[in-house]
This record gives sequence, C-alpha cells and structure tokens, in this order.
Amino acid sequence: QVVFIPKEIAGEPRVAASPETVKRLAGLGLDVVVEAGAGLGSRITDEEFVKAGGSIGKASDAGRADLVLKVRRPTEAELKGYKPGAAVIATMDPYGNEAAVAAMAGAGVTAFAMEFMPRISRAQSMDVLSSQANLAGYQAVIDGAGEYDRALPMMMTAAGTVPAAKVFIMGVGVAGLQAIATARRLGAVVTATDVRPAVKEQVQSLGAKFLAVEDEEFKAAETAGGYAKEMSKEYQAKQAALTAEHIAKQDIVITTALIPGRPAPKLVSAAMVASMKPGSVLVDLAVERGGNVEGAEAGKVVTAANGVKIVGHLNVPGRVAASASLLYAKNLYAFVETMVDKSTKTFAVNREDELVKATMLTDGGKVVHSAFANVAA
Ligand code: NAD
Repeated sequence: QVVFIPKEIAGEPRVAASPETVKRLAGLGLDVVVEAGAGLGSRITDEEFVKAGGSIGKASDAGRADLVLKVRRPTEAELKGYKPGAAVIATMDPYGNEAAVAAMAGAGVTAFAMEFMPRISRAQSMDVLSSQANLAGYQAVIDGAGEYDRALPMMMTAAGTVPAAKVFIMGVGVAGLQAIATARRLGAVVTATDVRPAVKEQVQSLGAKFLAVEDEEFKAAETAGGYAKEMSKEYQAKQAALTAEHIAKQDIVITTALIPGRPAPKLVSAAMVASMKPGSVLVDLAVERGGNVEGAEAGKVVTAANGVKIVGHLNVPGRVAASASLLYAKNLYAFVETMVDKSTKTFAVNREDELVKATMLTDGGKVVHSAFANVAA
C-alpha cells in the first residue's frame, strides 16, 4: 500500500512527514512516496527522505495512494487527483468550511480531521493542536519581542538601567502557557488571564501573576472537555473593566483565546489599544478565527494611530516550520500506526475505534461526523 506525502501548496512551509516518520512508516510495511521538494520549507531534503526509506515522486503519484498525509485540507484540485476510497489525514479546519467538507465526501475520500483527536491519554501523542499551539505560543513572544523596540529583561549596566518589559498573556491554554514560559525566560514581568479556574495555579507555577474576574460564572467556565465556554455579555463587561486598566500599562500583550467552533472572543477593544503607550505591541494569535484584538488584520502587522503595533501573522507554527513539521509528522505517524495491522502489514481503517469515530469527517461518499450532520455531499 502506498502512502503519499505531497508538497503543501503555497503559504504552507510545513510538511506531514519527517525522515524519522518515513522510516517508521516504511517499517510498518508501507510504500512511502514523498513529492519532490515537499520538505524544503522545513529544511528536509529529498535525499534525507530517500535515506529514510522513502521514494521521491510527483504530485500525480497521489492517484496511487491508499493514504495521503497532509498539513492542510486538500483543495478541490488536489482532491481530483486522489483515488476514491483513499484515506486523507490532515488538519481540516472544517468549521465554516462546510462546502469543502462536502467536496471531500463528493470525492469519495475518507477524510480525518486531526484537530478532532480526543484529548485522552491514549491519543496524547497525536494531539496536533497541542504540538502546534505550543510552538505558536513560543513564536508569538519572539514576534512580539521582534516588533518591540526595547529590551525585555531588566539590565543594570554602568550606563544605566533598562527596566524589564511587562508582558500580559490573555488566554492560557497550550499556547498561552508556552508564551508565559518564553516571556519569563526572556526576563519579562509576566501576568496572565483566562476564564477557566484551573489555569490559575498553572500560571502561578510558571512564575507569573494571575488576573481574572473570579465570580460564579468563572467557576463554571470549563467544559467537561477542558475547553472554555463562551462567556455572557455581563461577564465580558466585567472582564473588560478589569483588564482595561492593566492593558494600558503593558509593553507587550499576547492574546490566544479561542472557543471551539465559535468565533474568538473580542478581548481588546480599540479604546484599550489607544490607551497603550506608543511602541507597545499586541500579538493576536486568534486572528485566523476572527481575532481577540480590535483592529488586528490577518497576515499583517498594523500600526495604530498612537504607534501601537498589532501583529496578526497567519500560520504562526509555520514560522517555526522546521520544528513544527517534526512534531506534526510524529503526531500523524502515531495515529497511522494505530490503523496498521502489524502481522499482515496492512493499513485498514477500524470504524469502531474511538479515535477514528472522533476524527472521521467523510467516508463512503458521505459526511459522517456528528458536528456536520446537516452537510450533504
Ligand atoms: P484553546 O486553544 O481552545 O483556547 C485557548 C485559551 O483561551 C483557553 O485556555 C481558554 O480557556 C481561553 N479563553 C477562552 N475564552 C476566553 C476569554 N473570554 N477570556 C480569556 N481566555 C479565554 O485551548 P487549548 O490550548 O486547546 O487548551 C484547552 C484545555 O485543554 C486546557 O485545559 C489544556 O490544558 C487542555 N489540554 C489537555 C490535553 C490532554 O489532556 N491531552 C492536551 C492539550 C491541552
């Protein structure tokens, strides 16, 4: 059976395999074909894939594949090249893209959305949201520091003292925790906020201060799945009142707040941006999902009237592509491994498996995922 790893289309430097995972896929008895140049955006050469036991092919080799491993959801053009019944594993970004989900069903592929992998211990090694968000949180601090025209650590020198920068992290999931750790390592004074109470201790254990409206609604804000609920208008108003004063004093604000399947909550208003000192920087990691910061623009660094910069880079994990690809490839491999019968060395989807049930979007020409029950192929 053939596994194909295509070169991602423009704007995506990551790749869904690494030399290590090619070696392991080959070890499972699969015939691994990597499209020429697929790894170059992540500093992996064709030779390295060949040395690991893969072969180099063309985009049209997708048509021979039983399994396609990707970073992004296949485009209509890519889908045309796949054979019906082939499995495709990628981050599918399905919410709001129902037509694209239907197109995958129409193409007859069995599509898996890695972002729906349940957060249970068995699937921890397959958690692409965590592996990529962790790097995004790191990179957000690097990007913020890069746009900031002062130093982050306190420096006491013969020529005088540079004060430590104040960094505020809004939303402390996987990305936010790494942002706190990274900003601390750079010597900043770090504060953080979230609506989930479980976060408080994690923030404090990283040496940052926690700031939040800790009312009854806050105490119930975490879903059984560990995610945040969408907060009420009243809570949002209280949260804004609490954070407004704080934001005005910050040098760098990094926002990472997301709610699964919903637009990102607006946490920083234009008035709050206007209250910040010239030269301060906001980094909005939620910009692709509508943004946490008013005025943030996807794919741009915007300078507000008062000289405050709002950073809205797209695909932040792709800005550390070489690291991101290695982890992403490993996540995919861990999932594929569960679908290969070790004795017969065959890849077969077990539709009874809970990981398959949770992640399968389309199968047999239909949209099968419960979150997209109304989408017809
Ligand atoms: P996420 O990307 O969905 O959201 C980022 C953060 O934004 C969350 O902490 C959320 O609470 C916060 N947020 C949402 N609305 C907000 C608002 N109005 N104001 C302030 N903050 C707001 O979250 P994530 O990074 O995917 O993490 C979600 C949870 O899953 C965490 O508890 C994390 O520790 C947990 N997790 C578990 C596993 C596992 O068990 N395998 C793996 C990874 C993460």
